[in-house]
Amino acid sequence: MSAYTIRVYGDPVLRQRALEVSDIDGRLAGLVDDMLSTMYEAPGIGLAAPQVGVRKRLFVYDLDDDPHVLVNPTIVEAAGEWTYEEGCLSVPGLSWPITRPKQVHVRGFDLDGNEVSIEADELLARLMLHEIDHLDGVLLVERLDEDQRREAKRVLRERAMASGMGEVLASGRSPADG
Ligand code: ZN
Repeated sequence: MSAYTIRVYGDPVLRQRALEVSDIDGRLAGLVDDMLSTMYEAPGIGLAAPQVGVRKRLFVYDLDDDPHVLVNPTIVEAAGEWTYEEGCLSVPGLSWPITRPKQVHVRGFDLDGNEVSIEADELLARLMLHEIDHLDGVLLVERLDEDQRREAKRVLRERAMASGMGEVLASGRSPADG
């Protein structure tokens, strides 16, 4: 197993929609192993393929010392509302209180190609929604309310300038994109 470098805010791959996985085979198992080591090394509790630069619809997670993977996940139903302090390995060192559904029913596939159905609540539901957002090219910053988002983008822009990534962030963005 080897670890990937986690892509961070400003990397275009994080804003692209990932593609359905058509073949669940040995190569996918290798990718999943490497994603898990990357996640544990970070450390984090969830990691989506686009975060390591792979445009495939799958994510790994571990909330209970038991590694899991979900391939081609879809949200069947979401209910309730829960605000929780949320962070992201691709937006390191920052977190915000974010309101999302409290419960979610997700379907997907495991590494053997079997369909799995997960009824999740609170933290697990939050994790699923966060990772599925990654597969759709959506970062948690987009889930903030307007004032929070403006402030978050200012902080992220300053941080990018400081690390010499300003040009990456400044390119190809409309003023409305902030
Ligand atoms: Zn994330």
